[in-house]
Amino acid sequence: MNIDRKTILNPELAYSMWGKQIGTNRFRTFSFKFFNNLLGLNTRVSNFVQNHSRNCQFCNLLNPAQANDKTFIHLFMQCTVTAAWHNKFVSKFFTGLDLQNDTERRKFFFFGILLGEQASTQLISTTVQSWMFCIWEEKLRKRAPSFHTLSTLFLENLKPMIITSNKLYLASFKSNSAIYRYFAPCPAMQQPHDVPLGAL
Ligand SMILES: [Zn+2]
Repeated sequence: MNIDRKTILNPELAYSMWGKQIGTNRFRTFSFKFFNNLLGLNTRVSNFVQNHSRNCQFCNLLNPAQANDKTFIHLFMQCTVTAAWHNKFVSKFFTGLDLQNDTERRKFFFFGILLGEQASTQLISTTVQSWMFCIWEEKLRKRAPSFHTLSTLFLENLKPMIITSNKLYLASFKSNSAIYRYFAPCPAMQQPHDVPLGAL
């Protein structure tokens, strides 16, 4: 894995999902490419395609004054658009998770490792990869949606993976993270939220 040469993380900690038969082919292909640095980012494509923009599409759409190269680390972590989505993602779905620095953010968003943990679980890594997948899909659609729209797409993507896996469904019951209350069978266990479950 070559996510970022500056990473201090041991690649062995990453929970590889592409062989775990979870999610759609499209999702598993994304995970494989994500962890093997094979995603078609603008900076790489521009080496092969004449006049292909190197700039970050989210920046172009929402912060046109900024002209950042769309590297992996920019698109998935450092982009101001992505960073704002990440902050809202944590406060809505992992309430109370206080990521203090860049290392803690990378451990969580890239590897699905919660604070104080040494490794990820399949449940958390699937959840975080699903979030990254939805960001990538919006990049492919050339959109920069609101957090509300993005989080709705995320829940729609994640829900079938959780509820069709006995292992993940059981693990989600034991988790204290707010995200899994969206999939609880009993309405009393669900948090008030702005995404109608009937739409999922
Ligand atoms: Zn950007």
